[in-house]
This record gives sequence, C-alpha cells and structure tokens, in this order.
Amino acid sequence: MSPANTTTHARKQKPTAKYHATHHHAVEARASDDRPYSDYGPASMQTPVLVLNASYEPINICGARRALVLVLKGVARAEEQQEAMLHAARIRMPMPSVIRLLEYRRIPHQTRALSRKNILLRDRNCCQYCGIVLTSAELTLDHVIPRSRGGQSTWENLVACCHNCNRRKGNQLLHELRDMKLAREPRPFSLHTSRHIMRLIGSADEQWKKYLFF
Ligand SMILES: [Zn+2]
Repeated sequence: MSPANTTTHARKQKPTAKYHATHHHAVEARASDDRPYSDYGPASMQTPVLVLNASYEPINICGARRALVLVLKGVARAEEQQEAMLHAARIRMPMPSVIRLLEYRRIPHQTRALSRKNILLRDRNCCQYCGIVLTSAELTLDHVIPRSRGGQSTWENLVACCHNCNRRKGNQLLHELRDMKLAREPRPFSLHTSRHIMRLIGSADEQWKKYLFF
C-alpha cells in the first residue's frame, strides 16, 4: 500500500476507523523484532500527527505509529516533534507531531462539492481582488477567466468577489487589467484544510498551527 493510496482512502472514511486499520496493516508488515514501542505505552502511538504534502500543504492526519512508519521508510520526514521518545531495538527518536511527505502527492478533490458556499468558505468571505471581507449575501462569485471567453466553473476559475470588483472586471482578462490582481491562486478546497482539521481534533497541537493557517 503506497502512502498516496492511504491518503486518498482516508478522505472517504471516518478518520478514527482509518487509523486503526492502517496501523494494524503497517505494523503487521514489519518484522516482529523491529516493532517500535514507546515509553508512554500504546496510547501515544495513537496520537494524531499532521501530514503535510511536500508543498507543506496539510493533507491528512494519521496516528503516530503510521507517521513513524512513513519516516522510517524514508517516505516522510518529521517537521515537528513531540516530547515523547520512541525506543525500539536499534532506534531512539522523538515521536513526530508533524511530518512532511518527501514526494509531492496529487490529491483528488472530487470529495468536496464545488458550490458557492464552499468557494466563499475557501476564500474566507474575502473579495479576492480588493480584500474586503463581507457577508456571504454581499459577495458574488467571479469567473477569473470570464465565461464569455471560455472560462469554466471550476475551483481554479471561481473566486469570491465583491459586486464592485465584479462590475469593474466585467468581461476582461486579468492581464488586461493593470489594477486588479488575485490575492492568491484559487485552488481546490481540500478536505483537511485548516478549520476542518481544527474541528476534527478539537484543541489541536500548538505545533500544527503554523501549517494550518498559511
Ligand atoms: Zn472587491
């Protein structure tokens, strides 16, 4: 099972169910004399670990045991560590709290519906041209490449926009407008972006914060 597959599957399942399945699988695959254990008992092996893509984008949460397997296999590296130490036959290392995949994984996005609500959520109700924050009712959606010029309704081509900017932009392309720029590149809204992760975990690890709000 490759990490890319497990990451993808995780999006379709309840996280808690997935951790157990994955851990079981991962540990079964190891030689028994090599099995890692911790000073703090099995509970710390279940500690949630934030998984970042190679690009530092948060993409998943896994248990500490799974994270250790990925680090020991050289698939990921620990970016942040817990105080707890892992002791195994030939290994003594701090338990990770954030790991990053060394190779970029393409994550499919079809699990989250493209909708007005989700576009506004992704853009945090902030007009992507002038930066003003408004209520959902006061915002509209702008096609970055206008529909009249072949622009499609996709995550990459729709942004939150105030009515003023929407009027000013009209049917023009961005490079035709000197004074209008996108605040950031519109990207698909991944299942595990910031507030969703926070909600999932409750009071998340302090060390996660800088990766969740970028
Ligand atoms: Zn605006």
